[in-house]
Amino acid sequence: MSSFPAGSLRCCRCPSCSSPFDLSAAEYRRNGPARRGLRHVRDTPARGPTIAPRSPALRGMMHFMHVDADLCGGSIVVTGHHGAEAELSLRADSAAGIRQWFHFRVRGARGRHVELTIHDAGEAMHPDAFHGYRALASYDLERWFRVPTHFDGRRLVLQHRPEHDTVHYSYFAAYPLDRLAALLSVVDRSPRARVLPIGASVEGRPIHIIVLGEEHPGKPRLWITGRQHPGETMGSWFVEGALVRLLAEDDLVTDTLLHEAVVYVVPIVNPDGSTRGNFRTNAAGRDLNREWQAPSDELSPEVASVRSAMEQAGVDLFLDVHGDEHADVAFAIGCAGNPGYSERLYELERRFTRSLARRDGGFSSELDYGADDPGKGDLRIGNNWVGERFDCLSMTIEMPFKEGPSGFGPDRAAELGRSSLEAVLESLGALR
Ligand SMILES: [Zn+2]
Repeated sequence: MSSFPAGSLRCCRCPSCSSPFDLSAAEYRRNGPARRGLRHVRDTPARGPTIAPRSPALRGMMHFMHVDADLCGGSIVVTGHHGAEAELSLRADSAAGIRQWFHFRVRGARGRHVELTIHDAGEAMHPDAFHGYRALASYDLERWFRVPTHFDGRRLVLQHRPEHDTVHYSYFAAYPLDRLAALLSVVDRSPRARVLPIGASVEGRPIHIIVLGEEHPGKPRLWITGRQHPGETMGSWFVEGALVRLLAEDDLVTDTLLHEAVVYVVPIVNPDGSTRGNFRTNAAGRDLNREWQAPSDELSPEVASVRSAMEQAGVDLFLDVHGDEHADVAFAIGCAGNPGYSERLYELERRFTRSLARRDGGFSSELDYGADDPGKGDLRIGNNWVGERFDCLSMTIEMPFKEGPSGFGPDRAAELGRSSLEAVLESLGALR
């Protein structure tokens, strides 16, 4: 275990970031852009909207563009730059050779035509998924939009003319841990919910569970987990949408749900990977969604913690929320290959997916990965293991990285989180 302070949710990896704008003009002239390892780009003056330079020193600084990934969940390698063009490379997961996720910041590019080229996108885990894909951008990490993106089978090129000095680009809308901390603070103040630690990650970050509703014997126990795969940030937006609705006091759906059932939410199962900017693994290089059959206290304590909490509370429904690189609509996968799969579970899956498809145009009940051969389901996978262990409705929800026909983005993921509660309520009476 590392020395990461228990109880803190702040990103610990990122050094405090600085830019030439932090420095006095004299200091900047003396040390230049190389100070603190910064990489800057000299460029021709901007043609778009600019601010009037007040001094010769400031005018000089305005010619630089700066790219970095010193962010919670940040990931990119800057390999070169020229003018407003940057040469980039995908960074591998911290303890595994998996590359797909990127999240970085560009500063000093307001009004300039920026071209950001990821030269090794063709060597990513799912290179073909970059065809027909457009990257997301945001000025404030709150509102996200897509930018023109081209993939030639090898290089992924993002082109954009930012309207502000600082802009973030991500494979999908980033969800930093300080956003989770703010959400947990809101949840904690609600009389409907408890926020409890159920364990710690490899690096000592807490695994939080949110319990909503009164626990009574006989009440259905409904579980939602997100971010086993840290780069699938749509899982966090989904969970946030569901949680905000569960806290609303004038919502008939959630009033009824919490009267009839107890809801357990683990918003981020993999906080280390989410902080480090990993795509798929935790700090020990483990794919947590292949650890459920035999989690290790040393290498996958995150899954061990969630499994242990499930054994204590019981499970009657499980939704494990993920993202799919190739899909352009959301869909769900049941556990048809499990040894204990039954007609009852098939009917429950069908009822739930059809109900959700009726409520959300971005969700399809017709799509899945194809059923495993009977009895051959991979019980290392979370929803398979839970479905087998608790003989319950247990599904993986997959949401797209691509925008697809519904214009999928973080707002749509949150909407799916909200509408999924209606499908859960409709399934409630049939769960047992
Ligand atoms: Zn996943």
